[in-house]
Amino acid sequence: MRMGLAANALHHDHDDAALFRWLRACEQGIRELNLHLHAVGRTHAAIERSGYLSDYPGLARYPYGREGGLMKLVAEIVGMHGPGRTLDGAIYLIDPVDPSSIFPEAVALKRQCVIHQKPFISTVASARDWIEMERIQASMVPDAGADDLHALETHTLALIAHDAMKPQMMAYASDHFDVLARFARRVATGTTGQQLNELAWSRGWPQGENWVERFQSGPMGGDAQIADLVLERRCQRAIFFEDPHVARQHEADIQLLERAVTTVTDGAVCMTSPRVAARWADAARKRATLVPSPLRGEG
Ligand code: PGA
Repeated sequence: MRMGLAANALHHDHDDAALFRWLRACEQGIRELNLHLHAVGRTHAAIERSGYLSDYPGLARYPYGREGGLMKLVAEIVGMHGPGRTLDGAIYLIDPVDPSSIFPEAVALKRQCVIHQKPFISTVASARDWIEMERIQASMVPDAGADDLHALETHTLALIAHDAMKPQMMAYASDHFDVLARFARRVATGTTGQQLNELAWSRGWPQGENWVERFQSGPMGGDAQIADLVLERRCQRAIFFEDPHVARQHEADIQLLERAVTTVTDGAVCMTSPRVAARWADAARKRATLVPSPLRGEG
């Protein structure tokens, strides 16, 4: 597997910066998975200085941002250079107030990941979560260091789907109802939430009891309400099925939610495509059979 890797300056400019918190938690997993990392210039230099991944042959250096490093990652997501160099996704640890995080190449990186249904990983929590998901999918023994990410019974999950993606959200919730039902609380934007509640009722959830708590509809401020929950650290995971093919009047609200997630980078996981979310749900189900949980009455 091959991932692009970049981090905004704040996230690699001191020993305990986000990039290094991720590497501390996941260096072993990266090696176990033989994950190849295409790291852009300054991020690569920071890793070399840090001593993490020393002598790791899977770490490749890409050009600096000003030399087009991030732009090259976008082409590799799309599959510009054939299967040998095509990226399976991108880890881009975003500092939301770093202007380069909203440069067109950064926006395109995210967008092409969504279009090609590849993971776009923008937070430390998402990056840790992704490594553990791939480890579980590769039948490795669960890492106790990732138990916090799988304590779903203590977490709030946000579910949001743009109009064209609502059928896929309903199919996803239907296929993975058991995993989504483990969360302490589910919230959603208005219309997505209505459809999810109807789905839950059709599956025997008590009539009149909401399966998800509905906020405003997206264009009326639902994304902003969920962003505030994230900022208050009261929402640990967002599954957001975005439609990258249409312009939306509430684009700013959507960006606000994505920036909120990166603001609490260690505390929130965000998944942006059905394929990634399904792969995660499978891994969560599998992991739950391997790790007994007192909260599920198994410990
Ligand atoms: P909705 O909002 O669930 O109310 O449609 C989603 C969105 O468009 O952000």
